[in-house]
Amino acid sequence: MIIFGTKGYLYQLAILTLVCGQCGNPAAHTLRKRVTKFTLFFVPLFPISTKHTTQCTFCGAESKLTKEQAEQLQAQATGGQGGQMHGQPQQQPYQS
Ligand SMILES: [Zn+2]
Repeated sequence: MIIFGTKGYLYQLAILTLVCGQCGNPAAHTLRKRVTKFTLFFVPLFPISTKHTTQCTFCGAESKLTKEQAEQLQAQATGGQGGQMHGQPQQQPYQS
């Protein structure tokens, strides 16, 4: 029996002050990266997908970013010194 599935990791890369496209307020936005990894017997093997998003802390609107946009924003926020990465594994069992 082979057990496989996916596991999601959520990283908060930076917090930025941006003018929100949804509510128009210059509010703090969290820049996040979500990585989904393929797991075999609960061991993460390789990433299947990586998504970058920003979320407005004022109205909660979330918008997708390209990898390039995310890297640019992260560089702005951290002064190009790299961000803190705090992984919060979220188990998403998937069995067939
Ligand atoms: Zn907003």
